[in-house]
Amino acid sequence: MLVSAKEMLNKARAGHYAVGQFNINNLEWTKCILQTAQELQAPVILGVSEGAGKYMCGYTTIVGMVEGMIKELGITVPVALHLDHGTFEGAKACINAGFSSIMFDGSHYPIEENIKLTTALVNTCDVLGISLEAEVGAIGGEEDGVVGAGECADPKECKMIADLGVTMLAAGIGNIHGKYPENWAGLSFDTLEAINKEVGEMPLVLHGGTGIPEDMIKKAISLGVAKINVNTECQLAFQAAVRQYIEEGKDLVGKGFDPRKILAPGCEAIKATVKEKMEIFGCIGKA
Ligand SMILES: [Zn+2]
Repeated sequence: MLVSAKEMLNKARAGHYAVGQFNINNLEWTKCILQTAQELQAPVILGVSEGAGKYMCGYTTIVGMVEGMIKELGITVPVALHLDHGTFEGAKACINAGFSSIMFDGSHYPIEENIKLTTALVNTCDVLGISLEAEVGAIGGEEDGVVGAGECADPKECKMIADLGVTMLAAGIGNIHGKYPENWAGLSFDTLEAINKEVGEMPLVLHGGTGIPEDMIKKAISLGVAKINVNTECQLAFQAAVRQYIEEGKDLVGKGFDPRKILAPGCEAIKATVKEKMEIFGCIGKA
């Protein structure tokens, strides 16, 4: 059964570790992440962007797939199925489809509009037992080939959104989606510290987990980060492993053309990446 992310994140925040959100793209991705979480007895959050939602034939297909896997694979660790960077419409669609966790990203709206739309979702999610993530201060990333610097959120605005009753808060602290540029200035711990002071015990979310050095991750956890999003790193690991399989000509030998054989090295690479991240986040054995 899918669970809200609320309990696992409150426990993580109190226990000074973080739960990983790993984004899924297809059946293999989902299976590998669930198997690794089960093997390591770690709680886990499966992230679905709206684009990935469309790719996987819609939110009800995804709910069916994940619930089926939890049953068939005998998964007993807590699993939350979470909409990543949802629009208001996307959030409503995922609530209706049976997601157990939602992110509404209103960070690109003026703060008044962000508050209005986030408020509208707080009560619904509360009634249905769904966890809700809000965002303040846009997170940088590559758009049309230009890497935007990560913005730093205003701690007072963070408090305004946190006080609405959301479960967790994503705040820009100089983090970026995708690969970090060579001249990246690093995370702004002054901003994180100020936000943490304002929001009390609320679990904070660190987006753009790919390529942030381990010491920065650990420092962020010590300052209230309880959820870390990983997406690009699994994609890069999968790509490198599948590329190697093809380059070595293994697809040309015997039944090497079988899609299950072609994708297998990529799956192993995802598992290794998820394990490595869970070790750094400290969530192993916390299920
Ligand atoms: Zn993000």
